[in-house]
Order: sequence, then C-alpha cells, then structure tokens
Amino acid sequence: MLEKHYTVPKSRKLYYGNQVDYTGYSSGIVSVYIKLNNGEINSLYLHVEPDALHVACTCGMPDGQLCLHAYIGLYNIAWAHSIDLKPFYQPGYNSDEKVQNKFLDVQVTKNRIYNKPRPMFGRLFRPIVGFEDFEGLSLGEPLPEQHCVMEGNRQVIAFCIGYGEILNMLGQLPVLIACQAQTSRDNTSLISYKELGEPIENIDSQSIGPRQLVLMEKAAEMRSLLVAFGKSTYDRNEPKHRAIKSTLVILWEEVMQLILFEPFTYAFRPVKVLYQKGKLKWFSKHEIRPCRFSVERPVLYFILKHHNDHFSLAAALSVNGVELKFEYKTQLFVVEQDTHCHYLMDSVEADDLLNWMNECNNRLTILNEHFAEFHHTFLKNLSEYCRVYFITPGTGKKSIYQLDQMAIYAQ
Ligand SMILES: [Zn+2]
Repeated sequence: MLEKHYTVPKSRKLYYGNQVDYTGYSSGIVSVYIKLNNGEINSLYLHVEPDALHVACTCGMPDGQLCLHAYIGLYNIAWAHSIDLKPFYQPGYNSDEKVQNKFLDVQVTKNRIYNKPRPMFGRLFRPIVGFEDFEGLSLGEPLPEQHCVMEGNRQVIAFCIGYGEILNMLGQLPVLIACQAQTSRDNTSLISYKELGEPIENIDSQSIGPRQLVLMEKAAEMRSLLVAFGKSTYDRNEPKHRAIKSTLVILWEEVMQLILFEPFTYAFRPVKVLYQKGKLKWFSKHEIRPCRFSVERPVLYFILKHHNDHFSLAAALSVNGVELKFEYKTQLFVVEQDTHCHYLMDSVEADDLLNWMNECNNRLTILNEHFAEFHHTFLKNLSEYCRVYFITPGTGKKSIYQLDQMAIYAQ
C-alpha cells in the first residue's frame, strides 16, 4: 500500500537507525515523533477514516506527495509497532480532551499507543462502521412475539387445578379451571381471578395462543363432566364414577403436556368445589395458590417387610427410580413434598389402589401364619400388577418379592 504513494528507496540504509515514538492521541489524531538516521526530526500526524488514512508531516510535504519522514514513519509503525489503526477512528468520541477521556481509555507510551472504549460504555457506535464484529451475529427469522418486559395490571389467562379438601381431599375429582386474572402492579403475582366462561370478556382474543385455546376446551369438557357428576363423592365401587374418572385421566394427560408451558398455573383448593348453573359457585383468591405441574408419571410399587410375628405391606411411588415423597394425595394427583409439584397418576386403577392404601395409614398387616393365603389371594396378583420389593430383615437389602424366599419368615 505504502509503495503506491512513495517510490521505494533503493538504499536499505534508509531503513535502519530511525527513531519512531508515539507522542499522543487527541481529537482523533495520532501524533508520532520521528527522527531519521540523518538527524532530521519531524512530527507526523495521522488521522484515520474508515477507508482512508490522512497523514501530515511538519515538513509540510513540499512536493505535495508523501514525504520520506511519513514513509519511514508509517513503515516503522506497520512493521515494528504493528499498530492496528482501526480503533483510532472514533468520530465524536474524541472531539475534545474531556469527551475523549469520558468515553475512551487512551494510553500512550513510546512504543505503544492504546485506545479503547471505557468498559462502562461497552461498544461505541461509529458512523459507517456501526459496531465492529457484528456481522457474525446475523439476525434470523423474527422471534416469536413475546413480551420480554411487561407492564403490570394486565389481563392474563391462568389455569387452575381445582379440587375440594374434604374427606382427605379424596371426595372430589380434580377439574381444570381456565380463568381470567389480573397481574399485580409490579407484575409479580396475580390479584384477581375470574372463571372463564363464554364469551371471554375484556381480553384480547388475539392474545390467546392455540395452546391456551386447547386448554380452555379441556377445561370446559372437564367442567361439564363434573357439573353432571353433581355433588356426589367419588366412589370407586361405582362403575359410573370410575368411567368418569377414566375420562378425566385422558383429559388430564392431554392437559399436562400443555400446561407445563403456561406462565400462570395455580391450585384452587376450597373445602368443596361447587357449581351453580354450570359455573363455579365459589372461586375465591384466598383458596388459590401458585403451583407447578410435572409431565412425569409416578410409578406405584409396594414394600413388604417382616417383623417377627407378622409382615407389613406399604405402597410407595417413584419418579425416575427415586421415591417420590408426597405432601398430600388427591384424586388422580399427588403433590410432591418439597416442590408442591402436581403429578398425575398413571391410571385409575393405580390411583384407586394407592388411595385405598392411604385410607388406612398405608399399611397392611399379615400374621406369619396367614402369609401363604395372603400370597395366593392377594400378593400374587399384586406382584404381577406392579413391583413388590421385600426388605431383608437385618440387612435392609431390597429385592424383588418371591414367595419361595418367604418360607423362613412365614412360620
Ligand atoms: Zn515530512
């Protein structure tokens, strides 16, 4: 590049013994002290534009062309100092010393000149250049429309699981409730809830996503099922009740896949969920608490233990091979102890069985002398239905239950 502007001197001598030092950077101009090996002393002034480098020399460049001082100076800078001039294009940020010191960190030593935006200003926008190195950050398809930072006092759609707390929470089947709610002013919670019926009021129907529409349909289906169910308490011996519960399992299965992505999910737990004219009779915020749902389905298993003269059998649940400790159990759901997360049970049968166990302290007691009959009339079927583990007395070792290994205990 330099050769284009200066006829390259033939003599190699010219290149040696020259002194080139940086002396300053101000108003967008890099000052350079240059002393040639013939003793001539000059100063160079460099000004960088995106596509040009302006050079001035104290010799005034009498030929109207690049002078030897500038040639040697730039040659030295390019080869010895290896300076990258690009950062010195800082239009506006170096208009005067004060502005420059505010935005730029400039350090000048003889051999080095350093010029960088001060970290607190991050990247500086420069005309024509824009932001350097931005090319790699190509913007793809527009992001889905999302509200990154939202105002409070918004109308939103929330989804609740609703069930009554009477009869150890096993009296009522759980229903999905779609509701319209308002966010608090600081946008961190919901402050009012209203069951969503038809038509949807005060809410921009455009803002309801397809997933929410499906959830609202499921909520309406469950509501009509449970309105028809009336005030009955679930009775597992009633085929009609079990049929409704089976339908609910299917509906809830579909709901669980979708509700995970909902930002507002709650549990509504009054004493009893009551309907009047097809709508919730009572839907108070005092009985609504935030809750989460899990797509994992707990697996039911049993633990058999021997205690001298008798055996005990207890039910338990596991998720991903780890025991799920639950805080409470309602129809079809268990609520995990620490996370308060709702898990949907695998089937009506497993749910009814676990509830049956929990009705009596989750314990069956069998005297040693009754064990053989207990096996043939009960445990054999159970162990074919789900895992039954036997805990070896003394060692506490857990193994899969087998009748022939019980002989030494069942005497
Ligand atoms: Zn000159």
